[in-house]
Amino acid sequence: MRKMLTLEHLEEEFAAGTIDTVLACMVDMQGRLMGKRFHADYFINNAYDETHSCNYLLATDLEMATVEGYKSTGWKAGYGDYVMKPDLSTLRRVPWLEGTALVLCDVLDHHDYQPIAHSPRAILRKQIERFVDLGIQPMMATELEFFLFDQSYAEACQAGYRGMPLASNYNEDYHIFQTTKEEVVIRAMRNGVYGAGIPVECSKGEASAGQAEINIKYDKALTTADHHSIVKNACKEIAWGHGKAVTFMAKWDNNSAGSSSHVHQSMWSLEGQPLFLDESREHGMSQMMCHYLAGLLAHADDVTCFLAPYVNSYKRFCEGTFAPTKAIWSLDNRTAGFRLCGANTKAIRIECRIGGADLNPYLALAGQLAAGMAGIEQQLELETEFVGNAYGGQDIREVPNTLREATEKLDQSTMLREAFGSDVIDHYVHAARWEQRQYDKQVTDWEVARGFERA
Ligand code: ADP
Repeated sequence: MRKMLTLEHLEEEFAAGTIDTVLACMVDMQGRLMGKRFHADYFINNAYDETHSCNYLLATDLEMATVEGYKSTGWKAGYGDYVMKPDLSTLRRVPWLEGTALVLCDVLDHHDYQPIAHSPRAILRKQIERFVDLGIQPMMATELEFFLFDQSYAEACQAGYRGMPLASNYNEDYHIFQTTKEEVVIRAMRNGVYGAGIPVECSKGEASAGQAEINIKYDKALTTADHHSIVKNACKEIAWGHGKAVTFMAKWDNNSAGSSSHVHQSMWSLEGQPLFLDESREHGMSQMMCHYLAGLLAHADDVTCFLAPYVNSYKRFCEGTFAPTKAIWSLDNRTAGFRLCGANTKAIRIECRIGGADLNPYLALAGQLAAGMAGIEQQLELETEFVGNAYGGQDIREVPNTLREATEKLDQSTMLREAFGSDVIDHYVHAARWEQRQYDKQVTDWEVARGFERA
């Protein structure tokens, strides 16, 4: 794999004329990269240490609306600055943009330089530290699905997002021939992120026309979330560069499958021993793994908002589509919310299948870790595994059906309030309620078509 960049490498590349631009990016509440494009000269001599952004970047919605009612900032407070502190361990080339490098930044208070508690990267860092303090290294992976369209974002917008031609015309799950037709774009994505120092494993066709998945090798939790944000941005930019569009909406079309982002998770010692494996126990699941999984199940409701953050996210939870509707665990069973993978091997791990491709990876991973930690701390007993088709299962734990329900569970979660801090939970509850209100105000095409004549 091509190496990450150090500041010295960057200086050399600048001197050689191969890099002239550095993107300094923070991650917003939606998991997107936000920041500035620096001239490499200025970055190397000044901005490498710190730069600034308007603090509304952690208080806006998808459309950058300035949402009132946050404690952290607002018009009354004058929307001041945050410090963006480049994390130089994330400095890398962006091979799909000419002469460009990228660095991710931590978000700090402008006055005392303390981490901003509700910044996604700070939230995840805090949960990882709880594990590392106990000598445990969480290793995680996210599998990102998306749809590829045979037209540009501008064309899709001009057409009112109607009649958009997909990159293929039939279910392409694991198909080689069908995905060969998309290789010009998808190969550029694999090679692009690989060149950015991201260990891409593979891509594959998925279970709807035009649907693809890109898999990145599991890594330490913060690195995995960083990879996820960069890969998502890369897929959009590379598609755009080819005159195409991709969407990471959880459910963009009634008749197509949704796009998920499964979260794989395992725990290792700081020396690299697999702590989820105990060959003497059933399925090779260690006692710690059982407690961790019991925590994920007990708090599945609390963290759903971080796996499914929009009204649209909940439309993905449909029976018979491989998206789960039940928060139960099962051995290698794709109808379950939590699937045990790699039983009896070093690769033993739990896959949470609830998250959609629209999740913010930092919040999703932090939510999983907090729930798992609660299971470990309270030594929760793991319930018996579910066997069979979970879609038809009666009287078993459901995944919350709506954003409204998930928001109330988030608000009521003492576990998350203790783990993240109460102000942080208030912040994201406010964001979720805003999202719901925006939706509730809309008259949709569906309502008009259904009621116009018949009501
Ligand atoms: P499947 O096709 O069954 O979903 P894969 O073998 O493609 O599973 O792996 C899915 C993801 O799981 C990959 O991103 C991989 O890196 C990750 N993974 C593999 N082993 C582990 C582990 N021990 N902990 C966390 N993630 C893992």
